[in-house]
Amino acid sequence: MRGAVLYGPRDVRFEERDTPRIIKSTDAIIRISATCVCGSDLWPYRGISPVTQPTPMGHEYCGIVEEVGSAVRSIKPGQFVIGSFFASDNTCPNCQVGYQSSCQHAEFVGTAQAPLLRVPLADGTLVATPDVPPDNLIPSLLALSDVMGTGWFAADAANVKPGTTVTVVGDGAVGLLAVLSAKHRGAERIIAVSRHPSRQKLARELGATDIVTERGDECVARIKDLTRGVGADAVLECVGTQESMMQAIQSTRRGGYVGYVGVPHGVELNGEKLFYAHVHLHGGPAPVRRFLPKLVDLVWNGKINPGKVFDLTLPLEQVAEGYRAMDERRAIKTLLRP
Ligand SMILES: [Zn+2]
Repeated sequence: MRGAVLYGPRDVRFEERDTPRIIKSTDAIIRISATCVCGSDLWPYRGISPVTQPTPMGHEYCGIVEEVGSAVRSIKPGQFVIGSFFASDNTCPNCQVGYQSSCQHAEFVGTAQAPLLRVPLADGTLVATPDVPPDNLIPSLLALSDVMGTGWFAADAANVKPGTTVTVVGDGAVGLLAVLSAKHRGAERIIAVSRHPSRQKLARELGATDIVTERGDECVARIKDLTRGVGADAVLECVGTQESMMQAIQSTRRGGYVGYVGVPHGVELNGEKLFYAHVHLHGGPAPVRRFLPKLVDLVWNGKINPGKVFDLTLPLEQVAEGYRAMDERRAIKTLLRP
């Protein structure tokens, strides 16, 4: 089969890769219905995270189960399934408290930009939909594999409840779906930080009530202005830079919450600033598996439509253009169909 392989900065190729097969009895092989390019794929694509050898890519997936190992019990061939970028047994102590992305047996699922994918720990990792979905639901179901689950975790970690004031830092796909998550959880006011007109428009469509275009200290000042000088109850940090993290901490009210899901790159927190900020900090790699049953239900019943973040759809063989379009910010998020 042919799939995506990253060779180095801005060099992603669609080329022959080993066809995945069952290695452990707990594995499943799925035929990918749709996969996509993640904002986090752009870190190695841009050479910010080093690529030392040709690396198969992709960690967002949904599709039809083709084959299962002899120990797999609940997942069956023919089912349409979605899983997280971390395979998890869903039974260990970390899984039991809802942190499946820290499963004691977690394995990264990182070869999904391909027609076929091996998923370890199939029973723990995969969630089946009630039936094989109609084609128009596939983008929204795919979004649950990472971006929607991650945006939802940001809102969950930041304790977003009905009536709260929320700020979302970051207008990538995760940030936009963090807006949708805050809206669905009943936030009264949602301030999106974005300087791009097309993303501002989508943020408003998804539930943002205010848009802030400033950055850094000016952004913090603007958010304070909008919140009677106190800051937001919850700030969802969906970028992962020093500036965005400090912006999030400083624009949270005393006793408020920062939910941070942007993968940190060079972020260092000053203990004294943190001490006097008086905020709750909670984040990390989203335990998407915890939220999948609920989010599948919301998509299945038409309550949310996170697939809206895909503004470019390409055949998988054009994966290189999919990366380029996101790198150049011509696309928010690229969906790939094998
Ligand atoms: Zn576990």
